[in-house]
Parts: sequence; structure tokens; C-alpha cells
Amino acid sequence: MDRPLFYPHGARIAVLTQEVVGVLDYLAPEGGVRLGQLVVVPLGPRRVMGAVWGPGMGDFDMAKLRPVARLVDAPPLAPEMIEFLTRMGEYTLTPLPSMLRMATRAPDLDQPPSARRIIHRAGPPPERMTDARAAVLRVIEDHGGAGFAPGELAQLAGVTGSVVQGLVKAGTLAETLAPRDTPYPMLDPDLPGKPLAADQAEAAGQLRDALKARRYGTTLLRGVTGSGKTEVYLEAVAECLRQGRQALVLLPEIALSSEFLNRVEARFGARPGEWHSGITRTERRRLWTMAATNHVGMVVGARSALFLPFADLGLIVVDEEHDGSYKQEDVVFYSARDMAVLRASIAGAQVVLASATPSLESWVNAGAGKYARIDLRSRYGTAELPEMGAIDLRQQEMEKGRWISPRLAAEIRVRQARGEQSLLFLNRRGYAPITACRACGQQVGCDQCDARMVEHRFQNRLVCHQCGETKPIPVACPSCGVEGRMTAIGPGVERLAEEVAERFPDARATVLSSDLFHSARALKEAIAQISEGQTDIIIGTQIVAKGHNFPGLTLVGVIDADLGLQGADMRAAERSFQLMRQVAGRAGREGGDARGLALLQTHQPEHPVIRAILSGEDEDFWDAEAAQRRQAGMPPFGRLAGVILSHPDQPVVEDYARELARRAAPLQRIGAELWGPAPAPIARIRGRFRVRMLIRAPRQAPVQQAISDWLAMAPKPPTNLRLSVDIDPQSFF
Ligand code: ADP
Ligand code: ZN
Repeated sequence: MDRPLFYPHGARIAVLTQEVVGVLDYLAPEGGVRLGQLVVVPLGPRRVMGAVWGPGMGDFDMAKLRPVARLVDAPPLAPEMIEFLTRMGEYTLTPLPSMLRMATRAPDLDQPPSARRIIHRAGPPPERMTDARAAVLRVIEDHGGAGFAPGELAQLAGVTGSVVQGLVKAGTLAETLAPRDTPYPMLDPDLPGKPLAADQAEAAGQLRDALKARRYGTTLLRGVTGSGKTEVYLEAVAECLRQGRQALVLLPEIALSSEFLNRVEARFGARPGEWHSGITRTERRRLWTMAATNHVGMVVGARSALFLPFADLGLIVVDEEHDGSYKQEDVVFYSARDMAVLRASIAGAQVVLASATPSLESWVNAGAGKYARIDLRSRYGTAELPEMGAIDLRQQEMEKGRWISPRLAAEIRVRQARGEQSLLFLNRRGYAPITACRACGQQVGCDQCDARMVEHRFQNRLVCHQCGETKPIPVACPSCGVEGRMTAIGPGVERLAEEVAERFPDARATVLSSDLFHSARALKEAIAQISEGQTDIIIGTQIVAKGHNFPGLTLVGVIDADLGLQGADMRAAERSFQLMRQVAGRAGREGGDARGLALLQTHQPEHPVIRAILSGEDEDFWDAEAAQRRQAGMPPFGRLAGVILSHPDQPVVEDYARELARRAAPLQRIGAELWGPAPAPIARIRGRFRVRMLIRAPRQAPVQQAISDWLAMAPKPPTNLRLSVDIDPQSFF
């Protein structure tokens, strides 16, 4: 991009604000201004933050231009960052102001970096404890001793400032002046790492060589669970640190990564910067500025860490790259994995995509030579992959209201007798997926959404998993009014826990489900306790599939392996395969005498996905999936874009969608097809009616341009209509 890096006093400059679509012209202030500098500019009667985006457009009378009001005391966005935001905006069809907001999501950037007041724990709990005080202490505990801005602490705890001040007076908390924005401790890449096995050493060598080239490249690091992928990519991080460049490691469930942070500390002697929703505002701002000035060498973060203003990014690792949480489907629709590749290609950085079960996209890209590929085929050390088997439910005597088959129950008993752990996996939160009336047969649905309400017995309420709405479990049927006939149908993890308690009364059981923990820290603690062997039977949803090490675990039972198979969308098979593989991979990770066993309860053991999981022939599975997608012209062999429209009024949204579909000439011109409009599978969420369209285009077609042209020519949308475009959609609800 031809953008001068400096604009002298009085020069015409373009400023991108967080408010207005398109850049606006201003005059550079006294002393001049750098490209990417964050500035405050007048906008009508207001003052808003923006970034210097390049030379002015020149279509506005110079005499009427207003000067920049002042500079923000923060490092400017690098030209690379400007290019990344611009290109990502074009790719995802996101307006630039939204992109700028994502890149400046650090609080108080506009405040000087002087010392500031923070509140922290300083003494024993107060003599007089109240609910409000307890809430404050819990927030402090949840953040592991970090300091808070005074207002922030009260806000997080949901109490007034006087509660916090009361705790200061009581000596439980103290308020001190702390310097802002201090650099992170240096990580030492030359501390001795773990000695690597031969295949690990070779893989690490390959990644090191890739980094030494100091150019862009992507490597798919595929390795069975427990093969040591983390150890290997930490060596790539080490090389990156040696070069003085910065490394970013993206994880799907960052809040659960205390084990990961410990491993980093063990390898490099200090903790990396952390970026996720659980960090305090102080940390957020510190990490943002330190990333921009290269005072943090390694950052571990959730997907939004990709928008940190790294000064010299050399490596991005996307761990568990197939994980669905990398796709954001809210406000801005993007895949952090794909955008990591874009960012790295602009920054001249390396990308490592790590997974035991890569996405089909990455698998195809590696096959086509776009990505390098490294395979770790065996588990580290003596640990072996678990033995896999199916339990054919058609041949098991299942008692009514029971979900653990006799065969699985027998295996659990064997584990119990040996003092080993069993994991029962069921990807359903709550007590029962359906609550229905035995008198009239009606199921209880959400008032706001087209979704069934799910019974959560621990909370003693029905919950909508779509919008979070809850209501008490009704005594009388909401439809026919008959009392006492409401009944739970089907199992959720809570109901499974009930069965475990009845059938294995001596076993200590733990339910792991995201909704059962009030904070990430509480969940972390539960996981740590399981690792230490304080439980015998773990009952979990998909959160157990994600990378935890449970050394005593030797049996995994998948309660309903058929659950994901019949999904209507093209990724159902792929997701099911990945999830069950990951869950099965939890068993027997530590080696020792007991080899792990994974058993899949199913009604269709001959289903191709079940067979692929059992056989371990992953490549065959991917080949077959790829062949199907190729034939259907589906991603990654063709391109998809979803268009989602919603409005409180059903006819309004349907009429408008039909009108759009009638004017789809710009799409037809690039050879794209438009499917729909059709009511979305979940046709109503939070009281808004939803309609979807799907665009399928040939692989090389300029889809984004065509969609922009199409929408630009569209009639004026009715008020209150929402329209979002999802390029490369992952879900179709
Ligand atoms: P993956 O990320 O592929 O699932 P990990 O990197 O978590 O695998 O490794 C699995 C387990 O094996 C971890 O407990 C790890 O510490 C251990 N491990 C892997 N490689 C080594 C090694 N070279 N030396 C010692 N322990 C190792
Ligand atoms: Zn709802």
C-alpha cells in the first residue's frame, strides 16, 4: 500500500473513526502525525476516536477542513495492521469502523500511562460478611489476585462502590498506586526443554527451519492426542523468541488453560501474556500497549487476540484448529483460523495449525500443497491410543429410563475396582432435552424462540439454550392445563448423573457441563480435582473433549454416538467424527499398564462415520468426505456465503428477502446460485423471525464483490430489519 508513514502539520489526512462508514478528511495537527496514529477528531458537535488511515481524499474544501483535536497517547497501528483490517473487512464484508473497534478493544487507551489506583486483596475476610461483600471477594478470587480499577471491581461484583470502600476500611482490600503498562517478564527460549522423541525432534526442526526463513508459511501439525504437539510447537515459539519476534498461541477455551500456562512457564521460565474475556481491564490495556511496543514476547489468547497490535509478529499457532469456537457468528462473522493465515501472510509470519482431527479445509489445503504438513503418528512415551469398540444398543437389554448399557456398566465396574476413572460423554446439557405433557403430548417451548425448553434440575428451571430465557418447571401443562403430568423425555448429563448415583452408589461422580460452574475458575478447579484423581466417574458434555489431561482415565463411554450423525448440514459427519475422536483420545493418555478403552453406544454400528472412528483409518474418512464435497461443489471446493435476515414481523422479513432474491443478477453474473429465502432452521430467536439465504459460488469467483453489488442495489430495508452476511459459514441454524 502506498501510504506515507508521516503527515506534516497542515496536511490533508484521512481518518477512520469508529462511527462513520468511510474515512473522513482532517488536517494534520501541529507536529505532524504518523500513519496509524490514534487521534481524537471533532465529528459534528462530538469528539470521537479514530485512526490516521492515509492521505486525505481531496474531495472536500480544504478551507472547511477541521484539524485533528489531539493525539491519543498510544502506539500507532502498524501499516501491516491497517492492511490486515482492510483486507479482512473486504473478505468478511465488515465495515471498517467495526474492524477498527475490534483492533482497539482495550479500555482507556486515551488515558496517559501514568500511575493509577488499583484495588487488591490485602488482609483476612472482614468480621462482618454480607452477600455483597462475598460477591466482591469471589470476583477477586476468580481473577487470581489481579488488581482492579475501583469502579470495575464493584461493577463485576454487581455491588455499589461503597461495598468496596467498606472492605478497604475493614483492611480486607487495599488501594494502592501502581504503575500502568509495565512490560511482561522476558521468556527465555534457551532454557532446556523436555528432551524430544525422534519424531517430535524432527517436527520441531522443520518448524524451526520454517521460522528461520522469516517469511509467510502455514504448516498443518497433525498428531494423535497425546503425541506431543504442544511440546513441538513450543519449540517453534522458542525459535520465534530467539529472533526477537512475537508469538501468538490461540486456544479454543482459553479460560481452561491453567495447565497450558504452567507448561509455558516450565519451558520458558515466565508466564506469557493472557488475552480472553476473563482478564481485567488493567491487563487488557497493558497487553494491548505491550504488544504494540514488543514488550510481550508470547501471548496466549482466545480468538480476539488476533486483533492485538503486535509490533513484530513472527508466529501464530492455532491449537485445536478444527474447533468451532474459532468461528465468530455474532456482529462480525469471521473464522479466526482463516484470518490468522491472512494476518500472517501480511506480516511475513509462520502459522502452525495443530490438531488431532483437522478440519477438512486444512486437510485439503495440506493435500494441495498450500500448507506444509507434519504428522506425529504415535503417542509420546509408552502411552498407546485407546482401543475402540462399539456397543450395539439393538442387542443390549436397556431398562426404561436408563442410558448406560449393561456392557458399559460392566466396564465401569472393572475400572472402579481397579481405582481407575471412567468418563461418560453425552453432549447434552441439562436434565432432559424435552419436557412434555403426558396428557396432551405438547412439549414446552420457549416463548421467544422456536426452540424447546430444556429442563435443568440443578437450577430447578427450564432453560432455552438459544436465548438463555428461563422459567420454572410447570406443574400444570401450559397447553391443556392438566396438572402433574409433565414428564422429562430423554437424557441430559444431569439425568445421567442420577443414573450413575443409583447404579454406582460408591463411586464419586463429577458432572462437567459449562452451565454448572459460576466462573471459569470454578471449572478449572473441578478439572484440577479430576486430574488429581478425586473422582471416579466423570459425566461430561463437549467441554471434556478439549485437551485436558486426566491421567487416571482409562475408559470413555460415548452414551449416544448417533446424536450428531443425522444433522442436516454438510459438516455433521465431520464434526461428529472430530468430537468422538477427541473424546476417545482422553482415555489412557499416560501409558502405564492399562491401555485406554473407548466404547461407542450406537444403534447403527455400520454407519460410515462410526466405522471410520472405530477403524482409525482417518485418511479414508477424509478422502470420502472430500470426494462428496467435491462432487457437490461444497467447501472447500466451492464457496458458500450465508445471508441471515431477521425482523420482529414475519411477513416483513419474508417479503424483503423475496425482493432481494428477485434482484440477484449480480450473483448470477459470477456463476453463483442463490438458495432460499427459507425460514431458518431456528425460525425465531428472541422474538425475531429469521430467514436465510445461501449463496454457492465457484471456488475462484469474486463472491464478496458480487454480494456487495447485490446489496448495494437492494431496495431500502424496512426499519428494524437486520441483515448479516456470513462468508464461509460453519453453521446453518
Ligand atoms: P498433544 O498436544 O499432542 O495432545 P501434549 O503435548 O499435550 O500432546 O503431550 C501429551 C503428554 O505427553 C503431556 O503430558 C506431555 O507433557 C507429555 N510429553 C510429550 N512429549 C514429551 C517429551 N518429549 N518429554 C516428556 N513428556 C512429553
Ligand atoms: Zn429462547
